[in-house]
Amino acid sequence: MTANILDGKAIAAELRQHIRQQVQARLAAGQRAPGLAVVLVGDDPASHIYVSNKRKACEEVGFVSSAHHLAADTPEAALLALLDELNENPEIHGILVQLPLPAHIDSDKVIERIVPHKDVDGFHPYNVGRLAQRRPLLRSCTPKGIMTLLARTGIELTGLDAVIIGQSNIVGRPMALELLAERCTITVCHSRTRNLAEKVGQAQIVVAAVGVPELIQGAWIQPDAIVVDVGMNRLADGRLCGDVQFNTAAQRASWITPVPGGVGPMTIASLLENTLQAAQLAQ
Ligand code: NAD
Repeated sequence: MTANILDGKAIAAELRQHIRQQVQARLAAGQRAPGLAVVLVGDDPASHIYVSNKRKACEEVGFVSSAHHLAADTPEAALLALLDELNENPEIHGILVQLPLPAHIDSDKVIERIVPHKDVDGFHPYNVGRLAQRRPLLRSCTPKGIMTLLARTGIELTGLDAVIIGQSNIVGRPMALELLAERCTITVCHSRTRNLAEKVGQAQIVVAAVGVPELIQGAWIQPDAIVVDVGMNRLADGRLCGDVQFNTAAQRASWITPVPGGVGPMTIASLLENTLQAAQLAQ
C-alpha cells in the first residue's frame, strides 16, 4: 500500500476534544451548554443506532441532548407541531430529524419547518443556498467532515479536478458545492453517467457516495489522487465495506479514507461542530 490513511476516527476524536473545551469555556462564562434535540419517527433499527451514536457523542462533549421518539404512525401535523415547539425552545440550539421518515410524512416539509439557524444537519434549502452562494452558515455534516479531512492532507485544493460519484441532497450535491467553493473543477457522476471509469480516472480528488460495494475499481484511480469513500455497505457476512475497492485503490492513491473509520466519525464530529455553532448563533 502506498497511500496515506486519512484517519477520520483519530481526527474526529481531536475535534471532539476541542469542542469539549469550548463547552467548558461557555459554562465557565455562565452560558448554556449547547442543546441538541434528536427526533426519531418509527422503529428502523439502523436509525436507532445512528441516533444513539449521535446522542452519545453529544453527551461526551458536554452538550444537553433531548430525544423525541415518535411512533411510526405519528401524523405529519404532530411532528410539525413538535418542531414548532423545539424551534421556540431557547434551551435547544440544534434540531435533527433522523431520516428516512415513514412514507406518509413529507421529508421536505419537515426539513423546511426547522428554523435555518437550528438546522444542524444543514439540509434546509436556506443553508444549502447559502453554501451555493459561497457564504455558508450551517453546512451539511458529511461534506463538511470530508472538507475537514481534505484540509488535513495539507494539499492545496484550488484548481484540482474533483469527481463526485452520487448526487444525493445529503452528500453528493452539497459535496460538489463545498469543492466548488474551494475552486476545484467539479464533475458529478450518477446512475445515468456514461464512462464512469474514464471520469474517475481524470480526478485528482475522488469522492464516492453511492451505496454500491466496491463500485469504484482501484485500477480506475489516477496515481496520487485523494480518495474519499463515503459508502457504508453491509455485506452478507456482516462486514462493512465502502464504495471503493480499498486494497487496489490504496496502491495508487496518495491519501485514502478507510471504511469504517474514515468519513463516518467525521459526520458526527461535524454535527457537534454545527450544534456548537448554532449555540453561538443563538447568542
Ligand atoms: P443515495 O441512494 O441517496 O444516492 C446514491 C447516488 O448514487 C445517487 O445519486 C445515484 O444516482 C448514484 N448511483 C447509483 N448507482 C450508481 C452507479 N452505478 N454509478 C454511479 N452513480 C450511481 O445515497 P446517499 O444517501 O447519498 O448515500 C450514499 C452512500 O453513502 C451510502 O452507502 C450511505 O450509507 C453512505 N453514507 C455514509 C455517510 C457517512 O457518514 N459515512 C453519510 C451519508 C451516507
